[in-house]
Amino acid sequence: MSSFSISSLFPFRRVKIDGFEQIVDSDKGIAMFTTVSPDQRYAPICYKCGSKASGIHDNSQRTLRDLSFGNNPGFIIYNYRKITCPNCGQTRVEDLGIIDGTPCNR
Ligand SMILES: [Zn+2]
Repeated sequence: MSSFSISSLFPFRRVKIDGFEQIVDSDKGIAMFTTVSPDQRYAPICYKCGSKASGIHDNSQRTLRDLSFGNNPGFIIYNYRKITCPNCGQTRVEDLGIIDGTPCNR
């Protein structure tokens, strides 16, 4: 039985991978799409101050350019939540620690 784990390769604890898809376009070639969403086990936290929010204001999605897979461009379909921060008092995007590449340890 192997003890190898891939968790060290994906240090983003607050997101889960929903899927991975390869799109083939006859003109543009092949592109790789990875879809990620917030892990529902974690309460959302404000990206600005780090406060935990109890409710969700809205759900949104963005497509981000990622590193290429060989010669094929990679993209991340990034689902995230907007919260009303109890500390800031404003609608904020939750911090999933994946956008700036710094793992979120909160
Ligand atoms: Zn806040």
